[in-house]
Amino acid sequence: MGETKLDAFFADIKTRREQQLSSNQGKWPRSNPVASDISRCARETALGVLHWEDRPAFGLDMIARFEAGKEQENIAYAKMLRLGIEITEQQRLFELKDKKGRLLLRGKIDGKMNCGGKVGVPFDLKTMHPNLFDRFDTVEDLLMHPFFSKYPKQLMAYEYMNNIDIGFLWIDNMLGAWKFIEVPMQWNLMENILKQLETAVETIEVIKKAATGDVVVDALKEMELLPPYHFDPSYCLKCWAFKRVCTPPFFTGEGMKIINDPEFADKITRRAELDAAATEYDKLDKEIKGTLKEAMKPMDNWIIGDWLITAEEKERRMKAQPAKEAHTSKYLSFDIQPITEEDAIKKSSEDYEANLTKDV
Ligand code: SF4
Repeated sequence: MGETKLDAFFADIKTRREQQLSSNQGKWPRSNPVASDISRCARETALGVLHWEDRPAFGLDMIARFEAGKEQENIAYAKMLRLGIEITEQQRLFELKDKKGRLLLRGKIDGKMNCGGKVGVPFDLKTMHPNLFDRFDTVEDLLMHPFFSKYPKQLMAYEYMNNIDIGFLWIDNMLGAWKFIEVPMQWNLMENILKQLETAVETIEVIKKAATGDVVVDALKEMELLPPYHFDPSYCLKCWAFKRVCTPPFFTGEGMKIINDPEFADKITRRAELDAAATEYDKLDKEIKGTLKEAMKPMDNWIIGDWLITAEEKERRMKAQPAKEAHTSKYLSFDIQPITEEDAIKKSSEDYEANLTKDV
């Protein structure tokens, strides 16, 4: 394609935008763990402070995403206020110290709301890409995810600091849809978070003390002093510190068995490629069948768009359990088949019209 009349103008905008974004690309010094970044690995928490300058800088796409998120958050706050909901203590800084007065965690709370009978419930407002928004409905969904598990942990830290056992995440999908996820305090998890922070802060102190004056703690010595490696290699592979400032033993083959089976390796690769589609399929399947269960009766046949849906009642025989006798239960099974236009015409239009009046 040849050059168009406006190409130079577009290129100028692109350059200006990139310059503007890159002015915000720097790495931020970190002298203590931060509430929004509580990982699953104490070693990473310590390295995040000791080697903050080794963290990879964000790419311009990511900086642009942060900028859009920030703007969307301001819009969401304004909308919430227009609904008459009051937000207090917005952007208040907090610090969590241990018994020795050492700073374990620093954070900035997005705000608090009075929720029914509960006064001053902390919340955090997050923007999430629309493709991810539908994947998270509960605290457990978030905790399972290597990155998003940080969200409920951050909230629990706010709750701990505010002496309250509940908080919530307010999630905006950048397209105007919101969802709220209640985050009740999980004391076991909070205890582990505190232990992780204490271990990391203790290590940071020891390493910094060892490196006083002109003494530099070499990498080998630091490796010894740092908290143990995370047990899960798949988590390490996603960690910023991996191969930059941390080389877990599995990477050098320790404790690993190498299997030479390219065909099997291809299957695993293909499985990973299908993973996102499978997750979306499961979610939609659950949603569709839930709706059909509410609306259809046994032997109903419906046409929706290009699809023929047949509801059939089936029996499920449950095996005898030690405390229970064998029994059967009934459930509705749905057969969802694509139909051609010809098939659709063949169906009784009367049935179709009648069925459409049902609230699907
Ligand atoms: S690479 Fe693994 S062990 Fe090392 S800091 Fe990251 S998560 Fe922890």
